Amino acid sequence: QAHLDRIAAVDGDVHAYLHVNAAALEAAAAADARRAAGDGVHPLTGVPIAIKDVLCTIDMPSTAGSKILEGWVPPYDATTVARVRAAGMVPLGKTNMDEFAMGSSTEYSAWGPTHNPWDLERIPGGSGGGSAAAVAAFEAPIALGSDTGGSIRQPGAVTGTVGVKPTYGGVSRYGAIALASSLDQVGPVTRTVLDAGLLHDVIGGHDPRDSTSIPDAWPSFAEAARAGTREGSVKGLRIGVVEEMSREEQGFQPGVLQRFRESLELLERQGAELVEVNAPHFRYAIAAYYLILPAEASSNLAKFDSVRFGMRVTPPGGGTVEEVMAATREAGFGPEVKRRVILGTYALSAGYYDAYYGSAQKVRTLIQRDFGSAFERCDVLATPSAPTTAFKIGEKVDDPLAMYLNDLTTIPANLAGVPGISLPSGLAPEDGLPVGIQFMAPARQDARLYTVGAALE
Ligand code: GLN
Repeated sequence: QAHLDRIAAVDGDVHAYLHVNAAALEAAAAADARRAAGDGVHPLTGVPIAIKDVLCTIDMPSTAGSKILEGWVPPYDATTVARVRAAGMVPLGKTNMDEFAMGSSTEYSAWGPTHNPWDLERIPGGSGGGSAAAVAAFEAPIALGSDTGGSIRQPGAVTGTVGVKPTYGGVSRYGAIALASSLDQVGPVTRTVLDAGLLHDVIGGHDPRDSTSIPDAWPSFAEAARAGTREGSVKGLRIGVVEEMSREEQGFQPGVLQRFRESLELLERQGAELVEVNAPHFRYAIAAYYLILPAEASSNLAKFDSVRFGMRVTPPGGGTVEEVMAATREAGFGPEVKRRVILGTYALSAGYYDAYYGSAQKVRTLIQRDFGSAFERCDVLATPSAPTTAFKIGEKVDDPLAMYLNDLTTIPANLAGVPGISLPSGLAPEDGLPVGIQFMAPARQDARLYTVGAALE
């Protein structure tokens, strides 16, 4: 009830939610009964949770921020949603996002932007700005997000929250409306590292419904976070500072770099060892990503064909199947989605495949090798989570390239499938806005991120 009251009080300004769950109090009562009976109780039983609108929910509309899915209620729950319900968590509602998770500011949502609770004139990051703003504004204690190129970590950075992109295959993608299937991961958005670990333990682990789900058992991430708070937990931990992502001339705001260095010093004082590492191909990550992602997205979004889901627009006088499809996609998709579908279709076309998609895949391999050699010299890598603090709403919305540059530090982890965490690193001295620090670990070593994150927190 407290969270519903808070939503009623502030969401008119923040606009974190697209839909509030009318059955939240019933679910809360069921959780209370379960606690009273001591029946299958988990630490998160009864804890309310906000759910990014990209995740299918059987009892609430799931639009992925797009008009084309207006009012669509899926016939099933995403695995991650089913798992939070099974733990007795209480869905509060669905959160705003850039359309089909394409964007870094939540301004590309068909339903209007979300505002950053730190300064309502600024963006909350994207695509998962709704989940991050809900957590930052105390409209939810915890949330689910998805991260294809940074959509959990960059909103975390600019709203002062914690966000984790798990190892690719660590959390099921079943029921997560696909953007780019080889990059997408679902993960936690929280206020503390321990909360993120608790939620990761609930949503993670093998799912036979996702063919890329890793079948192995995972350690407890909540335990890894608890371990991080103990004296000496990072003693001897080698933290690789990525040289290519640590200087002003590389596009970083001075205050972001200042807080980054201070956070690293704190860890050094706790016994961690800083090593400078090079990742020479990271500078090509944005270029490769913005070919691979549109290519996969153009294929994934082909299913929005006016027949199977959501909206249908029939041209005056009827029209052929193709004309209905074209009219529906014209009216249902926003400009950024159209831009990427066209780019992706072009990059995949027979005559250009090798020049664009093929080259981008080769760059992806080089980035994976950069991670491989860096992790021979260190246990985790560190970068700022985003190049700047939250920018003003409207500042970059008409300039796709400026928008894409926000993903500088987050994209490499998606291209390599490795896990990443963003956590608060203080406020930038020049504008008083939150700064995030990112740690990345080798694939399947997500536990290290929780330990180092909790040690810093
Ligand atoms: N900003 C990135 C993009 O626009 C990230 C998207 C995401 O992680 N869903 O593609």
